Amino acid sequence: MVPITVSLMTGPARINFHHPHLLGIEGLSASEIETLLDLGDHYVELNRRDEPAEPLLANRTQINLFFENSTRTRMSFELAGKQLGARVINMVAEASSIKKGETLLDTAMTLNALHPDVLVLRHRDSGASALLAQKMDCAVVNAGDGSHEHPTQALLDALTIRRRRGDLDGQVIAICGDILHSRVARSNIHLLVTMGVRVRLIAPPTLLPPFIERMGVEVFHDMHAGLKGCDVVMMLRLQTERMSGSFVPSAREYFHYYGLDYAKLAAAKEDALVMHPGPMNRGVEIDTDLADDINRSVIREQVEIGVAIRMACLDVLCRERGKARKQNTEDAA
Ligand code: ASP
Repeated sequence: MVPITVSLMTGPARINFHHPHLLGIEGLSASEIETLLDLGDHYVELNRRDEPAEPLLANRTQINLFFENSTRTRMSFELAGKQLGARVINMVAEASSIKKGETLLDTAMTLNALHPDVLVLRHRDSGASALLAQKMDCAVVNAGDGSHEHPTQALLDALTIRRRRGDLDGQVIAICGDILHSRVARSNIHLLVTMGVRVRLIAPPTLLPPFIERMGVEVFHDMHAGLKGCDVVMMLRLQTERMSGSFVPSAREYFHYYGLDYAKLAAAKEDALVMHPGPMNRGVEIDTDLADDINRSVIREQVEIGVAIRMACLDVLCRERGKARKQNTEDAA
């Protein structure tokens, strides 16, 4: 573990993030990513010391609108907003007028009339958050859109690794499993390649998008070859809810070839970290003992760091919004 310096308590000196929304990692620069990680680091320290964060979101309204199931992401966005003093409203799609046939855009227009400052959206369709960002007056955060992107997951993964390893640059990281349907994989690839990481993807050919090498990654179909000498191993769930038809012969056979167990992990570096975004399917993509092995697995740490990274994202977006508001008031005066 890298020693934490006192400067983390004050947060980064310079905030280099000036976007109105957080829709994906694609297109963010290394320095913008660094800003979010540095700020996330600061919030990890505050949360661990149980110190209150500056209430940057006091009198601000945050709506969490989730059209897909979620445990970690929804809870941590809620906690993150509350830690920063926001009024947080959780809208459960199942219990709303969406069930009566209201379209996404009509729902958005209704929510817009409530004047939220931030909308956190999870939706099964790729591009849903980008669409709402054009229609809403508030900041929109993508909490997962179809198989497209899940930016806050990639940021929390990166911060977990950086805190353990000190730097991302030069690390060799394997992402294994259902890459084809994974928004986590896509956001992580964009982030890690931007930050100078050597990214390896390990999956059966049926679970890899065509031409994925163009994203600057190496592709392997064999776990032993792909894991050789890796610093970090990220496992992914088989996203059966996005599969039409059968992509693997059986869960048992999948675990035999692609499930991470101690024997396969032995090919990686001796101190390689094991990660998983959750929810895990034990015995399908990961061995249950390995998932709980505190000497190898940082899965629980990922969840903890998720709150801090979401605080960082809400923080930068609200600063931007504050500036825009001030500008509008000055223009109107
Ligand atoms: N929780 C992650 C997501 O929402 C990963 C998963 O569902 O497997 O994409």
